[in-house]
Amino acid sequence: MGKTVYFLGAGFSVLFGGPLQSNIIKEIMAIEQNGNEPEGFGQFADVKCRLLNFLEVAFPKINENDYEHINIEDIFSILDRAILNKDSFHIYSLEDLLEIRTALINSIIFMFKYKLYYHLDKQLLMDFLNILLSQNSNSTVSFITTNWEIILDNVLFKILMNKENPYSLSYGFDTDYYAYEGNSLKYFKNKDKIIHLLKLHGSMNWLYCPNCNRIFHDFVEKIASHELQHEQYNPRCRYCKDIYKRKYDRGDVENPFMLRSYLIMPTMLKELDNLYIQQIWHQASIELSQADELVFIGYSFPQADFEIRYLLGRSIRKDCKIKVVLYKDDEPKNHCTNDYHLLPEHRYKYFFGLNDDAFDYSGLEGYVKKNMEISNSSQQ
Ligand SMILES: [Zn+2]
Repeated sequence: MGKTVYFLGAGFSVLFGGPLQSNIIKEIMAIEQNGNEPEGFGQFADVKCRLLNFLEVAFPKINENDYEHINIEDIFSILDRAILNKDSFHIYSLEDLLEIRTALINSIIFMFKYKLYYHLDKQLLMDFLNILLSQNSNSTVSFITTNWEIILDNVLFKILMNKENPYSLSYGFDTDYYAYEGNSLKYFKNKDKIIHLLKLHGSMNWLYCPNCNRIFHDFVEKIASHELQHEQYNPRCRYCKDIYKRKYDRGDVENPFMLRSYLIMPTMLKELDNLYIQQIWHQASIELSQADELVFIGYSFPQADFEIRYLLGRSIRKDCKIKVVLYKDDEPKNHCTNDYHLLPEHRYKYFFGLNDDAFDYSGLEGYVKKNMEISNSSQQ
């Protein structure tokens, strides 16, 4: 067996408490103070308020109770188009729009932290990874994902840190540990095999320095939220200390070099041309072009992901075997025949030329179970 590439969509992380993109605004609206929320709730309440004010202006005909149904791509696309055009928008100046965009990003980051706060049973993920990594040692595995959450990073790091395990972990570009040296990639030194975890839209555990452009990671915490909670965490780049000091000596309070989150937002105008995102997408293209098998899990292959369709169309070899693992809700037999053209199966079939055998509607649980049975019977 050669290389298997796993392409993981939102349906993969929903299983571990992550939100679907179509529910992001709904989830933000649903967050209420309950006395047990993660730290940073106060800052979140402020940015949510800014966001609500903007929605009232941008969607004047929508009742506040229906804000949860507004498409997040519409909000970002309005903001991004106005910002790119350097327009003002109703009562908002260009500077206001930039602030609202940051407020929306910070609301999303907090919502992820909130949703995954009480988390969760990792056993399924452990089983999934153990099956993949225990297979024939000549085979290799890569992951490509559009998800921001870090459940996979978390569990993979723990497994791979073990000296006995021959694999190291790479995001497809150089990163540095954030605050805790225990997350350093130095544990992977002297390991010759690499597992790529390529996060096409960035990650909740990355912060980048706008001064030296380094990216810092943490495998345990969603440090992207430190951008919102900068008063508590003061996330700074340890390599640019000298610059902060000089600014401080001059009496500047504002710090333009505070580390920032690194996430590509769901907008029609995605910024995919920056340094690290380009490296990640380039590595994804290499992995896909080497794939003997490509397994999609929980990815609905939406028409709007045209950059991903381009990446796949350009990179996949004709002899690459394709499997699609989805959930019961996506299964055509649970939908009216007239709606077939709206389902993921239709999109996959007429992009890759797949037949019915390529589809499995038993989800990640079913996939893990089947593969466990295969690996158990081959060991007997
Ligand atoms: Zn720096």
